[in-house]
Amino acid sequence: MTLPIPTPRSKFVRVKCPKCGAVQVVFDRAATTVRCLSCGEVLAVPTGGKAKILGEIVEVLT
Ligand SMILES: [Zn+2]
Repeated sequence: MTLPIPTPRSKFVRVKCPKCGAVQVVFDRAATTVRCLSCGEVLAVPTGGKAKILGEIVEVLT
């Protein structure tokens, strides 16, 4: 019997929009592009695994 390969725990991060400064929570394995709710700036893009966070991560929520 084999165990499944452990995957890194996904988490949420608080990201600050580089354009307007609004902070919002982004899933760090987002499967779709995440946009700022205030101005529409792209904050995270999916990469097939962990999303690429484009804004400033101000806090990691575990
Ligand atoms: Zn914004």
